[in-house]
Amino acid sequence: MRHYNIPIFIPELACPNQCIYCNQRYISGQQNQPTKKEIVDKIETHIKTFSLPFEAEVAFFGGSFTGIDIDKQKEYLEIVQPYIEKGIIKSIRLSTRPDYINEEILDLLKKYNVGTIELGAQSLCEDVLFFAQRGHSVKDVEFSSKLIREYGFSLGLQMMIGLPEDSYEKSIYTAKKIISLKAQSTRIYPTLVIENTFLAKLYKEKKYTALSLDEAIKWSSEIYKIFYDNNIKILRVGLHPSESLISNKELLAGAFHVSFRQLVKTNIFKEEFEKIPQNKEKTIRIITSKKSINEAIGYNCSNRNFLKQRFNKVIFSEEEGLKELDFKYSLE
Ligand code: SF4
Repeated sequence: MRHYNIPIFIPELACPNQCIYCNQRYISGQQNQPTKKEIVDKIETHIKTFSLPFEAEVAFFGGSFTGIDIDKQKEYLEIVQPYIEKGIIKSIRLSTRPDYINEEILDLLKKYNVGTIELGAQSLCEDVLFFAQRGHSVKDVEFSSKLIREYGFSLGLQMMIGLPEDSYEKSIYTAKKIISLKAQSTRIYPTLVIENTFLAKLYKEKKYTALSLDEAIKWSSEIYKIFYDNNIKILRVGLHPSESLISNKELLAGAFHVSFRQLVKTNIFKEEFEKIPQNKEKTIRIITSKKSINEAIGYNCSNRNFLKQRFNKVIFSEEEGLKELDFKYSLE
C-alpha cells in the first residue's frame, strides 16, 4: 500500500515569537492562510493522483498549528473530517511549537483524528535554544513530548544543526535526546541565513558563520546514522526546496542543496567504502537495497568514481531484503 501526504501550508501570520533564523514569508513564498476552498481543492487534486491501494494523511505544516486561533484550528480540522469518515484520508499530522501543547489542545486534536504531532525542538541544548531566541526551554520539549506520547499520538521531533552556539557534539547530543524522548520520526534541517532575520544581521556583522555544505553533510551523516540505528523515521533532511527559496536572493548563507538528503546518504556510503582495502587487480561488486542504490553509487556517481580509482572495475547491484544503509561487497 502506498503512503501519501497532502501538504497544506499554514503560515502563522501572528506568531508572537521571533526566532532569529525565521522569516516565514520568505520560506513559504506564500503569505496568506489558505481558504476552505483552497484546502478542499488541494485535497481533491491530490487524491486524483493516488494509485490504489493507498493510505493518505493531510499534513498541516508551516507555522505552529496550535498557536493559531482556536476557531481557525477547528475550521481547518473540520475540512478534513468528511474524508476521514469516508475512509479516504487516514489521519492528520501537524507541526507546532513545544510550548503550544497542553491537555486542552491535545483533547481537541484527538477529537479531530490527528495522528501525528511534530514539534520543532530545534536543539535540546539550553544555550542553543536561548541564542536562537526560541522562547521555550528544553523542559518544554520534554513536557510536551511526554504528554503527546501519553495521549497516544505519534511524536515527531525536528532538529536544526548549525545554530549559533551549536556544535557537532551538541547536535549529536540533541539527536540522542530526541531518541530518549521516544520520538517516532524526525527531520534534520541545516540552519539557513535568510534576509530580514536577526541571524542575517549577525551574519552581515560577521558574528555568525553558517555551516558549510561539507560540514552540514558530515554532521547530518552522523545524526542520520544515529536515528537510523534507533529506528526513528527520518522524514526529511534539508529544507524543502520550494522554488521561491532556490531562486530567491533572500537566502544569504547556509547549507542549502536541492538534493541534500542524497548528498548525506552518498557520504554515509562513501565513509564505509573508504574502509575497504584497495585492490587494483580486482573487480569490486557492491550490493545494496533497491532504495539506496543511487546513493551508494553516489550523487553525480561520486562513489563509483571514488571506487574506480581503487579497483580495476566497479559493479553495483541490488538485493532484496537489505535494509536502507546495508551493503555487502565481494571482490572478483
Ligand atoms: S520559527 Fe519561530 S518565529 Fe518562525 S513561526 Fe515558528 S515560532 Fe514563530
